[in-house]
Amino acid sequence: MAKSLLAGNWKMHGTAQSAAQLAADIADGLASKAPETIVFPPLVHLPLVIAELADRSPIAVGAQNVSQYPEGAYTGEVSAQMLADLGCQYGLVGHSERRTLLGETDQLVADKFAALQDAGLTPVLCVGETLDQRQQGLTLPVVKRQIDAVVTRVGLDNVCRAVVAYEPVWAIGTGETATPEQAQEVHAYIRGQLTEQGRSTRLLYGGSVNADNAAALFAQPDIDGGLVGGASLQAQQFLKIAQQMVEQK
Ligand code: PEP
Repeated sequence: MAKSLLAGNWKMHGTAQSAAQLAADIADGLASKAPETIVFPPLVHLPLVIAELADRSPIAVGAQNVSQYPEGAYTGEVSAQMLADLGCQYGLVGHSERRTLLGETDQLVADKFAALQDAGLTPVLCVGETLDQRQQGLTLPVVKRQIDAVVTRVGLDNVCRAVVAYEPVWAIGTGETATPEQAQEVHAYIRGQLTEQGRSTRLLYGGSVNADNAAALFAQPDIDGGLVGGASLQAQQFLKIAQQMVEQK
């Protein structure tokens, strides 16, 4: 059985002060029986969030982006090793905002995934279809293509060691969430793509998760947790989602 996992993607929100406060409020509010938790603050807030959580909470910290290169003349980029040196344990790759708004290809996502693992970080690989692709019946082929690109790059065993987040693009930041049945169908499909080793791979659902819809989603057998955007910016909402997860898992 995969262990449950709750992740909060703070995107490009907040100030240094609000990021430290949010980290502190989540750390203080997480019950002793809480799911494993990761927060993904903006890059420049990573050190202060890591410092805020150190010695007071088992919450892990991850980066929202990483360079595909280990080092070199890549102005403005940040390597996986630099993130590891800061104390990051996870990195997001393949988020739909980066795929669609910033043109990240399957190949680039796979290279970033490899860069994270080479530096000892755990990638959280986001996959998911657009509304148009869903309406054309292409959901499963799109998800397969996105995962296969990474499998080709690093091998299936390495994908099984990561976390995979199914995030339908039409559900991200829109307030419209996949039904539990829609999400479970894709999660079961992804589980089927992984080896026996993939039984313990954490499969997260993301897309407008909130305190009201979390319980039904987390009740699904192949949904091991959630990747939460908007609702992770309010400590009380995020803590309620954590509570729902504990009750379902
Ligand atoms: C996300 O950013 O990964 C996400 C799922 O956002 P939201 O929860 O706001 O839809």
